[in-house]
Amino acid sequence: MKKILIGTHNKGKFREIAYLLPKKYKKISPLSLKIKSPKETGKTFISNSKLKVKFFSKYVNYPVISDDSGLCISVLKNKPGIYSARLAKKHGSFYKAMKYILKKIKKERNRKATFVCSLSYKDKVGKITSVVGKLKGNISTKILGKNGFGYDPIFIPLNKQISFGQMSKNRKIRMDHRYVAFQKLKKKIKI
Ligand code: IMP
Repeated sequence: MKKILIGTHNKGKFREIAYLLPKKYKKISPLSLKIKSPKETGKTFISNSKLKVKFFSKYVNYPVISDDSGLCISVLKNKPGIYSARLAKKHGSFYKAMKYILKKIKKERNRKATFVCSLSYKDKVGKITSVVGKLKGNISTKILGKNGFGYDPIFIPLNKQISFGQMSKNRKIRMDHRYVAFQKLKKKIKI
């Protein structure tokens, strides 16, 4: 069976990317190979996903796919953006980071936000292909639902009535920013 390394330690991301990839692949986690994460020194989603795919591919001789993603909130000048995971770390949990965001934009009428995902794929001969996928939506006024991961409970996709946190896993996976990015990747390369 062909192998692919899904270059992330985030269980939510791993599950979603594994779901999107064809069944022919045995999906390997860096955790099972005891590989740590690289430092995210990039200034953009795409530079961080490239940096991750380059890092993880040093350890294996089969294809690697990496993701860098985050939540960009319009009235916060697109923050936390690439710092989404770091914001949660700073506050101690995603729940606390979500509470912080909701409080910070409590009085704002503009609730516009975009989930962004950059995927980078490195094939076994070393060619890297990168894409960016986006999904627009709004920030809810409270924490809604317990499904998903990260900031899912405060993000309501455009034209939907419920947050990602209230949606079934399968429904979210087939519409989110990672899905959008993956469709773009499939147009560029045979995966
Ligand atoms: P990083 O790409 O490792 O820097 O982490 C991105 C962070 O953005 C994740 O830890 C989540 O907090 C957040 N994030 C990215 N994609 C999603 C998603 O689909 N749902 C909820 N939060 C997400």
